[in-house]
Amino acid sequence: MVISREEKEYLIKELIIELHAKYDGSHKNLIVPRCPYCGKEGGKFGIYVGVETDKKKPFMTHCFKCGHTTKDVNQFLTDIGRSDLKLEEHASFAPVQIPEFFRLEEQEIDDELCVVEMPKSWKRCFRNDYLKSRGFVNDDYDYFPVGTTRGLNFKFDDYVIFQVIDSGDVVGYVSRHTWSKDDIEEYNNRAKRNGKYQIRRYSNSTENDFSKLLYNYDAIIEDETDTVILVEGIFDVIALTRKLILYDNHRVVPVATFGKKISDTQIYKLQSKGVRSVIIAYDADATDAINKTAIQLNEFFDVTIAKLMGNGKDFDEMDFWEVYDVFAYNLKTPIEFKLNTLDEKI
Ligand SMILES: [Zn+2]
Repeated sequence: MVISREEKEYLIKELIIELHAKYDGSHKNLIVPRCPYCGKEGGKFGIYVGVETDKKKPFMTHCFKCGHTTKDVNQFLTDIGRSDLKLEEHASFAPVQIPEFFRLEEQEIDDELCVVEMPKSWKRCFRNDYLKSRGFVNDDYDYFPVGTTRGLNFKFDDYVIFQVIDSGDVVGYVSRHTWSKDDIEEYNNRAKRNGKYQIRRYSNSTENDFSKLLYNYDAIIEDETDTVILVEGIFDVIALTRKLILYDNHRVVPVATFGKKISDTQIYKLQSKGVRSVIIAYDADATDAINKTAIQLNEFFDVTIAKLMGNGKDFDEMDFWEVYDVFAYNLKTPIEFKLNTLDEKI
């Protein structure tokens, strides 16, 4: 059945009123609080309103409580007593797969987090030579809590320690040694020979798995934040916020996944706040990881990829115009990006 755009929009509007439905985070499904077939409450009844694919037809419905599925929109409209909305043309659908309605399935996404204590003697700081050398300005200290143990906790001497916050709670910390990679390596080579302790570049909390965390998550405001820029680490988030002046801009929020990959829990966390589009901005060398992440995200969001220049610069090493160019001229669709990076490999 071909449904015109106008018909579709009209029908969606009617169904929202009739069934008290609302869009889920992906905007591809309507969630109905009470199943019209079994009467169970709890938002387990979904209506697919995304684009038509091989397996998913607009307005197919499914209840995850009673298992009732309808594939024919007119049948469904009759069932809910709205034959007046029936669409003219009739066609039978090929067998369809049940769409993955967000939050409807009894999925075992584990997003439980415990509160984490900061290392002993940690205190916030509002100036720091190392952070200054990485471009930190006053706002950065205000918006992104960071501190040191001020020489009172030898395990964290020479580290800066960032809080990872979720719903206002500290759920982790990332501490980064302030020496350069080369200096750390040199020290460690000597330490190895002398049987001394090695220095770790990072020394992070261990209570919550980092695949369940997103840095800067609280900056995403439900129904206000439309777009998330996905980056690898804390310094990328802060550099982007500073360079694009996003401190109080909640429409676009940079968020770090702590590495070049995203987990189901992290996807769920973005969805549950109603994020619609995601820009992947991982390092230029991470093409395979970017392609993989794009496929994962494409199911749930509008995905674009910010193609960083191949000069190996991180966001905090770029100047404003370099960052600007990335987002103004170098956004690719997943397919463009894939084709683009194929060229480079040949
Ligand atoms: Zn039901």
